[in-house]
Amino acid sequence: MKSNKAVVKMIKPEIEDESIAPLIEELLGRLGEDPKRDGLVRTPQRVDKALHFLTSGYQMNVEQILNGALYEVKYDEMVVVRDIEFFSLCEHHMLPFYGKMHVAYLPRKKVIGLSKIPRIVDMFARRLQIQERLTQQVAQTVYEAINPLGVGVICEARHFCMMMRGVEKQHSGAMTSAMLGAFRDRKDTRDEFLALVNHRGNGY
Ligand code: ZN
Repeated sequence: MKSNKAVVKMIKPEIEDESIAPLIEELLGRLGEDPKRDGLVRTPQRVDKALHFLTSGYQMNVEQILNGALYEVKYDEMVVVRDIEFFSLCEHHMLPFYGKMHVAYLPRKKVIGLSKIPRIVDMFARRLQIQERLTQQVAQTVYEAINPLGVGVICEARHFCMMMRGVEKQHSGAMTSAMLGAFRDRKDTRDEFLALVNHRGNGY
């Protein structure tokens, strides 16, 4: 190995721009690959880019996303945004889990721009996650943003760490939910939400 000084000099600028390419090159070697062979030469850079994108939620915040898209309305019926696709990485294996989320709320006075809800989902999905926390964070964020009477979130997902390794169950999905306010306290509200979500099964 070269002297420490040389290594520090070589690595430091990379750390400053947060590139993980050198680590991926190292990883390829440790997996028994030849990082210099044709197909892998640019792989560290590609993985670097991909992983930064898949964890770009760390760079986002709620204020930026909402950007004032809250509207005062008289509407007081349930708002449901169904089948929001998401892709995340489990924090235990850094393998993908993906699925759909259904987000509903009962407005008090304010509604949120509809396109903002999938963006809130992405903000939390593009981090290292567990499905339970992802579900909670989406619910809590909508709750805090518009102070509605209640929020319900259901998340259906498949985990590569279950499908490709471990128990190797390709067809089992995991479901999580978070119910706040009226969705927690009132059975009729919860039932209405579940009926709206379930009236068409969707394979996750
Ligand atoms: Zn996992």
